[in-house]
Amino acid sequence: MSQIASNTTLGTPAKIFYKYEGVSPAGSHKPNTAIPQAWYNAQAGVRRLTTETGAGQWGTSLAFAGQLFGLDVQVFQVRVSYDQKPYRRAVMETYGARCIASPSTETAYGRRILAERPDHPGSLGIAISEAVEIAAQRDDTKYALGSVLNHVLLHQTIIGLEAMEQMQMADTWPDVVVACTGGGSNFAGIAFPFIGHGLRGGPKPRIVAVEPAACPSLTRGKYAYDYGDTARLTPLTKMHTLGSTFTPPGFHAGGLRYHGMAPLVSHVKELGLMEAVAYTQVDCFAAGVQFARAEGIVPAPEANHAVKGAIEEALRCKREGKAETILFNLSGHGHFDMAAYQAYFAGQLKDEAYDERELAQALSGLPAVGA
Ligand SMILES: *Cc1c(COP(=O)(O)O)cnc(C)c1O
Repeated sequence: MSQIASNTTLGTPAKIFYKYEGVSPAGSHKPNTAIPQAWYNAQAGVRRLTTETGAGQWGTSLAFAGQLFGLDVQVFQVRVSYDQKPYRRAVMETYGARCIASPSTETAYGRRILAERPDHPGSLGIAISEAVEIAAQRDDTKYALGSVLNHVLLHQTIIGLEAMEQMQMADTWPDVVVACTGGGSNFAGIAFPFIGHGLRGGPKPRIVAVEPAACPSLTRGKYAYDYGDTARLTPLTKMHTLGSTFTPPGFHAGGLRYHGMAPLVSHVKELGLMEAVAYTQVDCFAAGVQFARAEGIVPAPEANHAVKGAIEEALRCKREGKAETILFNLSGHGHFDMAAYQAYFAGQLKDEAYDERELAQALSGLPAVGA
């Protein structure tokens, strides 16, 4: 964990601390859950894991974890990211995984999608359907999910538990905890231990989730039962959702392009124990560049959302003249996302709004279930 010289960079009386998860082999927080998931599967006699990956960080982490315990790993990578990020695929293959662009011809569902639209760019929901379809066909194969589910959030709480000890070592405690949200795992990872501590009588920091304006499940979604994937193979979960058919416009924080939100995070939001804000990707990249120049770490595009959230809190402290302590999770580095930074510097990064009609349609297609 590190503290930023925020008074010189931002002219704020606030102190900013960040927990850095980019030092893991895969470059993000995801090995925190990939390794225990691979270990438990190996213990249970499983031979092969299937999964999806958007930006590539989860696929990389599971490829690495599978290799540690002798499991075959098969990764369905969303087509746009497969094409845009060849180095992510190369890392997965280096760790010994097989990487397939999704939609693919290897599953019935992928073939159906391709028949309708041969140039389909793919989505996380479709890639999940493909990975689940393969796992459902074979006894020795299981599907592993990198976010959203309760056990994933549990594994990730190591982030917050470590941060609590480190805050104590620094003889301070956060007034605000900030993290970005895709499926909600790094957010819950840093925030839930602080929320729990507050519910047990400890101090109650404000908890702020930052999501992309182009895929705003917490700020614009409905709290309802929905499927986790596009083919409707998964069990229904109650969560904030944009509808399982919602395809967000292409933006660079690929790890945040998921239609739903972790049920536990959704529940905590409904209980009023946290807040959520949405920012556009250009504003988040500006924040990430400012951070890189101050701290020397180039954040992942996903993590730029947390940086943006922390900067906004620091500027609020400046306006209000408050010397608050801000803690945020820097969920990963952006070394495989330099093309996105190049696009940003070339002024080519666009903020595409999602299609309101498509959102309305996706929400009207939510499954009808009793309360
Ligand atoms: C996957 C990923 C995210 C988003 O996933 P969550 O489950 O919401 O944490 C955020 N940051 C990085 C670096 C990621 O790899």
